[in-house]
Amino acid sequence: MAAETAISRRDLLRGRPQPGPFRARPPGVTRQSLAACTSCGACADACPEKILDIVEDGVTLRPEAGECTFCGACAEACPEDVFADNRRMAHVMQISGDCLAKAGVACMTCRDVCPESAIAMRPRIGGPFLPELDTENCTGCAACSAACPADAIHAVEREPENV
Ligand code: SF4
Ligand code: SF4
Ligand code: SF4
Repeated sequence: MAAETAISRRDLLRGRPQPGPFRARPPGVTRQSLAACTSCGACADACPEKILDIVEDGVTLRPEAGECTFCGACAEACPEDVFADNRRMAHVMQISGDCLAKAGVACMTCRDVCPESAIAMRPRIGGPFLPELDTENCTGCAACSAACPADAIHAVEREPENV
């Protein structure tokens, strides 16, 4: 299940418009620049990893589908001003309670596939090591999310000032 933006109970009761679920974006695409996306699909066609989709508000990256290699093909293919020069992702990954290790099943898949060594396994008494994700070193490439056998790793938006 995709990570969702928290919605306050008060806003719900008052019928205020609610933010939709957070959708990850390819590197260099900000909330603001996404407004220029015409949904032409050129970026998705160009992506060699086939991890981009077009949804109603433009391009989205599917972290569960594979790893972004930061090759830049999507940005090169885009005919609009959607991809900023900064190729950084606007998201980092977060490990949910669905993690097998948290349920007592030994698993180190995410640690093993992370190209940035951003996931460490913390020893604990009475159970398998637990994965800990360092958001400072996480590039949002999604290699871990795609490899996780429990679909336990999802993208969450970085604070805007950190994008
Ligand atoms: S940078 Fe490359 S791998 Fe990543 S989304 Fe763009 S085209 Fe796909
Ligand atoms: S790959 Fe998934 S299930 Fe395995 S340790 Fe990492 S988060 Fe947990
Ligand atoms: S998204 Fe990439 S860099 Fe971040 S923890 Fe997962 S594999 Fe490592």
